[in-house]
Amino acid sequence: MPVRSFHYVRPSSETEALAAAAEPDSAFLAGGTTLVDLMRLEVATPARLVDLRHLPLDRIEDGPAGLRVGARVTNAALAHHPAVVRGWPALSQALLSGASPQLRNMATLGGNLLQRTRCPYFRDVGSPCNKRQPGAGCGALDGYTRMHAILGGSERCIAVHPSDMCVALVALEAVVHTRGPDGERSIPLGELHTLPGEHPEIENVLGRGELITHLTLPKSALATLSTYVKVRDRASYAFAITSVAAALQTAGGRVQAARIAFGGVATKPWRSAEAERALIGQPAALETYRQAAVAALAEARPRRDNAFKVELAQRTLVRALVTLEARS
Ligand code: SF4
Repeated sequence: MPVRSFHYVRPSSETEALAAAAEPDSAFLAGGTTLVDLMRLEVATPARLVDLRHLPLDRIEDGPAGLRVGARVTNAALAHHPAVVRGWPALSQALLSGASPQLRNMATLGGNLLQRTRCPYFRDVGSPCNKRQPGAGCGALDGYTRMHAILGGSERCIAVHPSDMCVALVALEAVVHTRGPDGERSIPLGELHTLPGEHPEIENVLGRGELITHLTLPKSALATLSTYVKVRDRASYAFAITSVAAALQTAGGRVQAARIAFGGVATKPWRSAEAERALIGQPAALETYRQAAVAALAEARPRRDNAFKVELAQRTLVRALVTLEARS
């Protein structure tokens, strides 16, 4: 399918990129693995692309306090970096469970953070979609909902957030750093994405022309004890039906610290404070993990075709925790 014509800008500095992105209807281009797809489908029709591929945002720096990852670092580079494999294994595993090697070589950190949903009604311009066209209605609500959200949805949108990486990052308490017309700011990953509510067309707290420059990951013993478990329809190149990023620290047979986040089931990367509360201070045992799983899904609101996700998500969490306990 031909792509609608657009202006193309190739800035050589962040300042030039911000100036170009200040024009209405602009979009940043990095790996292009989502954006170009959506432009071909005419789901996204930016008037101007600001190509970031010549900006020096492609470095990974491992310091005493943690990791600093440039926004143009590819999924492949991040997944295989020795510091990530050692210090934040859930992140490496999440990245390697996503997409194909070819896509991981192109897709970037910044693009992955802002990845759009795979809801089929969103990607089909012949279907109503409040996210694509505010007020148009939602094709999914009365449609086929097997892959849709059971947590965080609204009567306007129940689309699942598709990223594996973001699930690991929210559990690992990453912070996103941006630069925009109003200066620089730091946003905890858990606050970057928004729930659909009345406005599913708004997906994050970034302002117009605000550029993600890098991400930081705090170093901790807990992060080294993390894992990512993904359940999907086939062994590779498939989005999660359910997934869990978990970290677990135990001492004397009891859980000292825990971080839990779910993917494939919610409208944003879903940190579960309920599961963490149910774990901390309790015996490191199967019954505790089951209780945490029940607590995590207590607020689930399944639709006609996805009630199975409640138990599947619970089992995914239990599997992740049993795996971590066996390793410790
Ligand atoms: Fe659009 Fe959201 Fe409805 Fe999917 S679930 S059709 S993305 S409004």
